[in-house]
Amino acid sequence: MEKIVSLCKRRGFIFQSSEIYGGLGSAWDYGPLGVELKRNLKNAWWKTIVHNRDDVVGLDTSILMHPDVWKASGHLDNFHDECVDCKNCKKRFRPDQLEAKCPFCGSKEFTNSRKFNLMFKTFAGANEDTASQIYLRPETAQGIFVNFSNVLDTTRKRLPFGIAQIGKSFRNEITPGNFTFRTREFEQMEIEYFTRPEDAPAFHEKWVNERLEWYLSLGIRRENLRLRPHLQDELAHYAAACTDVEYNFPFGWSELEGIANRTDFDLKQHTQFSGKNLQYKDPVTQEEFFPYIIEPSGGVDRALLAFFVDAYHEEEVKMVSKVEPKGETRVVLKLSKELSPVKVAILPLLKKNDGIVTLAKKIKQDLQKSFVTVYDDTAAIGKLYRRQDEVGTFYCITVDVQSLEDKQVTVRDRDTMQQERIPVEGLKRYLTEKLLN
Ligand code: ATP
Repeated sequence: MEKIVSLCKRRGFIFQSSEIYGGLGSAWDYGPLGVELKRNLKNAWWKTIVHNRDDVVGLDTSILMHPDVWKASGHLDNFHDECVDCKNCKKRFRPDQLEAKCPFCGSKEFTNSRKFNLMFKTFAGANEDTASQIYLRPETAQGIFVNFSNVLDTTRKRLPFGIAQIGKSFRNEITPGNFTFRTREFEQMEIEYFTRPEDAPAFHEKWVNERLEWYLSLGIRRENLRLRPHLQDELAHYAAACTDVEYNFPFGWSELEGIANRTDFDLKQHTQFSGKNLQYKDPVTQEEFFPYIIEPSGGVDRALLAFFVDAYHEEEVKMVSKVEPKGETRVVLKLSKELSPVKVAILPLLKKNDGIVTLAKKIKQDLQKSFVTVYDDTAAIGKLYRRQDEVGTFYCITVDVQSLEDKQVTVRDRDTMQQERIPVEGLKRYLTEKLLN
């Protein structure tokens, strides 16, 4: 993990939040490369879940919601963790994660365990009284449930169908940690899939497999993923079944995503608390009933961390090339072509040669319309290759003196390190075939 955290900081993937003020615990900022990776990840999810299917539509709901939502959902009554305080230094812990002694001061004296609600409270408007108290949403799901009728009326979808959303959620975690794995502010990618009650178990199984496949299709190795069905006593108050997709992080197997059968709990609760009927009416039989909901709910930040960890490789350079001597160790981030933040780097071999610079800049301008492309002339070529390898850039294009005569450039593949001479004219077609197919 230390190597991952250090690479993230050094190359501008992830920075500590408010670092110049000493940092805010458990909050992170995505840097220039991190933001590209995160967008690619969310776009890949959206494409698979919304654009490539006929039965799922998207939604983007607000973080602030009517406070009654959290009464209906059960979050006000049930969204608790147990906590204890160290009597000496006053630090707070989850009892299940605590050893005999306080890790900060060594004291063995703790308060009794009590319940701590994980929702962040805030106030809407100028009055800071209980009437204006609201919450930052702890999951995006509720925004989908309360819009169930709106979506149904405007899209004319019939069961089974789903609503998908990506957005920020907030939980006042007692013990955040493991870099971006557990934070107080994070992004979720959630699907609420509405089915007939009798079809729910089969759709649950289907979604578990589809979600596992998604992580595999974007490059995570099979041996680092596993499915873990929840035991009966672990299930949330609304769930009839739940299976987690877990990843083998450096700190152990941990949840990436949970796929739950939420039954008809949510629509029934919101019907009761809002007084609006959220039943589904079958257009053929006119039968009215509450659909069951299958919920695949994953974290953007956790998924990003898993893809990053899985892509991180240190390997000995085997090929013999003047600029990349055999036996060197290189760090290479083998992210998939969908996820890698930069697809192409343009590297002029001589930065003082006007002809080379002009051609290199022209190539960049042409390619950046189709691919995320960077230009770097700030080091020797061997070093430039290493720099691009460790951030996962797919192709490096070198422009040299020869290029001015034969109108060809060298294209180097990140993974094989093989080089090919390609005509400048055919570059876009070459890269399109490699990167977009
Ligand atoms: P955990 O058991 O790790 O606290 P959870 O079971 O409470 O997670 P869910 O409520 O199922 O999590 O949330 C769905 C997904 O949202 C999780 O699988 C995870 O990817 C993400 N997530 C939840 N809490 C956090 C957090 N504090 N930081 C980052 N991601 C989170």
